[in-house]
Amino acid sequence: MAKKWVYLFREGDASMRDLLGGKGAGVAEMTRTGVPVPPGFTITTEACNAYYESDKQFPEGMWDQVLVALKEVEKQTGKNFGDPSNPLLVSVRSGAKFSMPGMMDTVLNLGLNQSTREGLAKLTDNPRFAADAYRRFIQLFGKIVLGVEGDRFEHLMEVAKGHGERLDTDLSAEELLAIAEQFKQVIKDDVGIEFPEEPLDQLRAAIGAVFSSWNGRRAIDYRRINKIADNLGTAVNVQSMVFGNMGDDSATGVAFTRSPSTGEAEIFGEYLVNAQGEDVVAGVRTPQPISKLKDTMPEVYEQFHTIAKQLEAHYKDVQDVEFTIERGKLWMLQTRNGKRTAASALKIAVDLVREGVIDKATAVQRIEPHTLDQLLHPMIDPAARVTATVLTTGLPASPGAASGTAVFDPDEAEHMAAEGHKVILIRVETAPEDFHGMVAAQAILTARGGMTSHAAVVARGMGKPCVAGAGDLRVSYADQSVSVGEQKIAKGDWVTLDGSTGEVFVGKMPTVEPELSGDFAEFIAWADEFRTLGVRANADIPRDAKVARAFGAEGIGLCRTEHMFFEGDRIDAVREMILADTLEDRRAALAKIEPLQQGDFEGLFREMAGLPVTIRTLDPPLHEFLPHEDHEIEALAAKLGVEFAKVKSRVENLREANPMLGFRGCRLGIIYPEITEMQANAIFKAAVAVKAEGVDVHPEVMIPLVSNITELKIQEELVRKVAAEVFAAAGVEIPYLVGTMIELPRAALTADEIAQTAEFFSFGTNDLTQTTLGLSRDDAGRFLPAYVEKKLMPDDPFQSIDQRGVGQLVQIGTERGRSTRPNLKVGICGEHGGDPASVEFFHRAGLSYVSCSPYRVPIARLAAAQAALGDGKRDK
Ligand code: ADP
Ligand code: MG
Ligand code: MG
Repeated sequence: MAKKWVYLFREGDASMRDLLGGKGAGVAEMTRTGVPVPPGFTITTEACNAYYESDKQFPEGMWDQVLVALKEVEKQTGKNFGDPSNPLLVSVRSGAKFSMPGMMDTVLNLGLNQSTREGLAKLTDNPRFAADAYRRFIQLFGKIVLGVEGDRFEHLMEVAKGHGERLDTDLSAEELLAIAEQFKQVIKDDVGIEFPEEPLDQLRAAIGAVFSSWNGRRAIDYRRINKIADNLGTAVNVQSMVFGNMGDDSATGVAFTRSPSTGEAEIFGEYLVNAQGEDVVAGVRTPQPISKLKDTMPEVYEQFHTIAKQLEAHYKDVQDVEFTIERGKLWMLQTRNGKRTAASALKIAVDLVREGVIDKATAVQRIEPHTLDQLLHPMIDPAARVTATVLTTGLPASPGAASGTAVFDPDEAEHMAAEGHKVILIRVETAPEDFHGMVAAQAILTARGGMTSHAAVVARGMGKPCVAGAGDLRVSYADQSVSVGEQKIAKGDWVTLDGSTGEVFVGKMPTVEPELSGDFAEFIAWADEFRTLGVRANADIPRDAKVARAFGAEGIGLCRTEHMFFEGDRIDAVREMILADTLEDRRAALAKIEPLQQGDFEGLFREMAGLPVTIRTLDPPLHEFLPHEDHEIEALAAKLGVEFAKVKSRVENLREANPMLGFRGCRLGIIYPEITEMQANAIFKAAVAVKAEGVDVHPEVMIPLVSNITELKIQEELVRKVAAEVFAAAGVEIPYLVGTMIELPRAALTADEIAQTAEFFSFGTNDLTQTTLGLSRDDAGRFLPAYVEKKLMPDDPFQSIDQRGVGQLVQIGTERGRSTRPNLKVGICGEHGGDPASVEFFHRAGLSYVSCSPYRVPIARLAAAQAALGDGKRDK
């Protein structure tokens, strides 16, 4: 017997997402639980994969099973496919495991031809409806299945509507039929075929087209951005049609069981009377809020409300549903977990815990850590609002604020962004083919479409600000401008969007950071109940330390002392130190730097009262601190009272062929011990001073770029000698640690030796990645993106740790270090400390803490909690 490729809706359930896709599993589950769903069947994702394996042929037995299932649907509906006296029409809908909004298109009203259309007109006594369904079918089939440019049809519709003088609902049956004939002519001209009359041929072609769309550009782009595997395949749902375009007692709509923008616990949605399918999402007319339905069709609304709540309770999560009302009867067409902004996700998770629907652990697992970024989004500075010029206000479709220069074309947006410009993509409305431009833009502005329009849904998914449906905007693609009344924004002009309020401002506006209290604080505290991994921050200055602490950092994991060297005019003293010929001169210069550093450290210790502060001794190659242009060298020579030629030759001298592997890290402190000595003095004097103020201080001195135990020993002895001197002079003892960065493969491999001296390790995964992969981050730009694209690497190894390679060194280093010193504290302080997948890895590797940039601290806290909850492979 052939494999089962086809499942009736009543044969499936929610657990079968892999096989039936999200949409198929959803309609099956609704059918099973008694929700009114138009009958239909699902062709499996396996059939899609088999189709690709056999050179785009339907797998054996599939078509026969389709015919059998179709017979069953005929029985269930009492209609017959292709029968003019009572025609069954179907939709052909794609549906992969993960919902890919707008990525693959649906064909509606399939089964119509000249004779079934006439039959339908007679049967419904509504020739206009039949003509409308017919013209929609030819349009969708032409565009999606036959690949005709959609604009060709839309243009003809615009002409028929008199360019906005009339609505689509104003067109008569005759006019619609004339349009249908024009559409067929377009198809003939473009594709060179007659429009297929035979319904089974239509069905066969549509199924093939859905399979093929799995490898269309939009689908591939979407999967890449969302890290969805290419081999999942899409299912195809064939479903009997119900009609929202049968008159004023019919409608179609979409709704969320709670607000996808704010999380407010109110049904939130939009619908259009006398409309079909994509009309709401495509922004053909401006839809009405769902609350209106309560007034116009109270009974239907009541039923809808009940079903929506029932689905939410059933799935224990917010549902995004599609429905159609056919002559006063409600039909549900789709349910899925609703995409939502981070703000909404957070409120919903917290509310569902409060309502007793889910527990804290579930709530913590519900939120993708990186989406918290959205909550950390800047908002428009309230002070700047006072004098701002509001161009217009649209719908607050996706929160956050952003400024950029106006562009009107997605390709151009992509170009400009690649050149480093911040752009705002402005469109009448967006369509799936604009996706790449939306990815490139800071924010999106549309003139048409509602809160569930394509622009809104996609922007929310990406966490980008979006203002949709700003109806006053007159967008001119020809002129590359947008205007409201007298005001005009041309291509390249700055605009600012506030996606939380819907406002559009002229010009570039300053933004401020958000407040993180209330639900956010409560939620993130729950995460802390589960996590075992510590989270620290990389912070160099007191201001950053303060932010880090506010975000919940449990210490500083990395203070890069040299970042303070550029402040004010202290760089002069640093340069004097570097250029010094004699030890004496160098000491003189260092003496100028020491009090400045001490002041910096005092600030850090105060901010981080009671928490550990890891300070790294000087790390970068000295050359980085020197001027390189002749005129700069001249200025420096003059300042120091030295000859130009001498400074110039010293600068030349310090130039290295490969600075990353050159004279840097602990090598500096070994050749010039006085540098380490000065830094140790600054650290311990600061500690003593702040301690005297009654503040609890925990200094940790970290030696960089160690590859061998002796290097570390030399530096450690020096640090301890200075500490003893400072404490003796002050008459106090302050506990402190001396440890090292592990950022060279040799250090990881000899970690058992290194741990004899090191009291803690901190993996410097940036350098460890460079040295393990033999890959300079600064030079990788030419080929690394291509490597990732070609999947030679699963991810950019500088963003997400290379677990097999670099990660193995982290594991080895940790194990060997702890074989010598069982309670060795082990952290990581590279960029990876804020990457959720890497955090999960570090949790498994048994690290003590991760340290990341202050703004990523909440993300790391959540990722660490999810790792602890064993939720490593999160469902996308
Ligand atoms: P998408 O994945 O883009 O949402 P869908 O398959 O859900 O695509 O369909 C697009 C639109 O067509 C939706 O509004 C949906 O409700 C509507 N639709 C799909 N199938 C039917 C049907 N059998 N009867 C009526 N409307 C349908
Ligand atoms: Mg669609
Ligand atoms: Mg849908």
